[in-house]
Amino acid sequence: MMSRGKFLWTLVPAAALLVHCGGVELEDIEGEDLGPYAERMPWAEFMATSSMGTVAGVAESTACTTAAIRGLSDQIVAEMNCIRPGLMSRIDGANISLTSAAALPYLQAPAARALAEATRGRSPLPINSTLRSVAQQWILYFWYRTGRCGVRLAAPPGRSNHEDGLAIDTSAYASWKSTLERHGFRWFGSGDPVHFDYHSGVDARGVLAFQRLWNRNNPGDRIAADGIYGPQTEARIRRSPRTGFPGRQSCQ
Ligand SMILES: [Zn+2]
Repeated sequence: MMSRGKFLWTLVPAAALLVHCGGVELEDIEGEDLGPYAERMPWAEFMATSSMGTVAGVAESTACTTAAIRGLSDQIVAEMNCIRPGLMSRIDGANISLTSAAALPYLQAPAARALAEATRGRSPLPINSTLRSVAQQWILYFWYRTGRCGVRLAAPPGRSNHEDGLAIDTSAYASWKSTLERHGFRWFGSGDPVHFDYHSGVDARGVLAFQRLWNRNNPGDRIAADGIYGPQTEARIRRSPRTGFPGRQSCQ
């Protein structure tokens, strides 16, 4: 039995949806409302982020895209697979179209297999968000707190089901709902209509993955590798290079 260790993060616990099944506890309360926040911005705006060296620089730029930290996000996903080998599987072989450059093409392996089966033989399923790194979630939450980029509600880092690779967002939820539900994806409902959660999985330990990655690359500034998101971790996420840490990363 694996508890995800995520906490209720809304002020309306009565609205909580707690799902216990298959060894995971999904807590995704009021959903998220990321609004029209770009991830689809013009190329010139995307290029504007290339002058931003850090995650904080990307968050404070006007480009409004977490795609700009793809290099760092890929390293965090690789570290998740170091902690639990084989945890995340690529989904870009499924019959989907990723409609955002920021969407990391991974889900936990059983969810990825279910998605491939669900989408077979139909027109491609458009997906705007899948797995998110803790650094991407930090940016979304920063935008939410500071009223940027049209984000109306975002979960704090470490508390979104997207960080576990167990959730997808699709704008085509109405036509896909019954098919996805037959394959184990639960529709969140009208509070976050684009959002589906896969019914089971494990804690992907994305915060721990970031902490390990940071410590390996910053031996003079190590932080607790406890998997708990707090001010120490947040400060290092802000300072992390958006393109990832230099050099080839290994699991050691
Ligand atoms: Zn979602």
